[in-house]
Amino acid sequence: MKIGFIGLGIMGKPMALNLLKAGMELTVYDIEESKRQELAEAGAKTAAGAGEAARGNKVIITMLPNSPHVRQAVLGPDGVLDGAEPGSILIDMSSIAPLESREISRACEQRGVRMIDAPVSGGEPKAVDGTLAIMAGGDRTVFEEVYEILMLMGSSAVYCGEIGAGNTTKLANQVIVALNIAAVSEAFTLSVKAGVDPEKVFEAIRGGLAGSVVMDAKIPMILDGNFKPGFKLDLHIKDLDNALATGHGLGAPLPLTSMVMEMMQSLHADGHGQCDHSGLALFYEKLCGAKIRRITEENGEMI
Ligand code: NAD
Repeated sequence: MKIGFIGLGIMGKPMALNLLKAGMELTVYDIEESKRQELAEAGAKTAAGAGEAARGNKVIITMLPNSPHVRQAVLGPDGVLDGAEPGSILIDMSSIAPLESREISRACEQRGVRMIDAPVSGGEPKAVDGTLAIMAGGDRTVFEEVYEILMLMGSSAVYCGEIGAGNTTKLANQVIVALNIAAVSEAFTLSVKAGVDPEKVFEAIRGGLAGSVVMDAKIPMILDGNFKPGFKLDLHIKDLDNALATGHGLGAPLPLTSMVMEMMQSLHADGHGQCDHSGLALFYEKLCGAKIRRITEENGEMI
């Protein structure tokens, strides 16, 4: 199968590599030349633009930061719609606003290109392992047509409803993850201020009701003071922004989301936008003047 793949960042690169490993013929494009080269070394053809990446391919996948980037790559000059043939399928795997998915899909339809939105959850480690959780919206028959391709990148792909339903599901996912990281950070600063070793707190509670995939993934990073992304805080701000706008439009108030959004905005203003979203812990650490870190001989007196 010939596939065009656009957007080779933290997520797109390992996803594209998994498609190559499975024997797909890939033509890739990213605005950054170095990212195209990395995939060329792994056996992909490179394109000079999104239109060229789409040309001659039955399936085109986009994995871009947000709605404006998808709009530019699909509808812009030398975009996917300039190269894609009628009958081809666009799978947008980026996390964008559901309403934008609908509008972009409408423009695709006018050119005979069928589109599904299929954002993912699981982060870089699951993108590397090919075990992402994929949530899709659009025409069910199109979803079924590309199901096997999705399963080369994920361990599950669930059809959620009409176009935009994948991104609505993803927004729910992002609200839960953001609030969960904030809750974990808040609780761990409490225990640190009380003088209890955070590593022991983690060990004691991770198997109980408070335990979560988020806690298992993020507490080890926070304990190490390792905020290398993973998932950039600025991208989570984008998701909460989309969640709040969508919620406001639908009459679904999101009070906890707006609170965590302001924490993230404060971290962004402090220069932490490119940190992993586990950097939410830095907000709480600043509030209470203590750090959630492993107790070692050197820092035993400091935390
Ligand atoms: P990233 O910033 O690492 O990668 C985005 C890539 O898109 C970059 O390489 C950039 O150069 C490229 N790009 C931007 N505009 C472009 C354009 N017009 N044409 C071609 N290339 C363009 O982001 P990421 O972490 O890979 O995230 C991608 C999407 O996946 C986002 O919507 C994000 O919210 C979502 N997501 C990320 C994670 C994660 O853990 N990183 C997890 C789930 C979902």
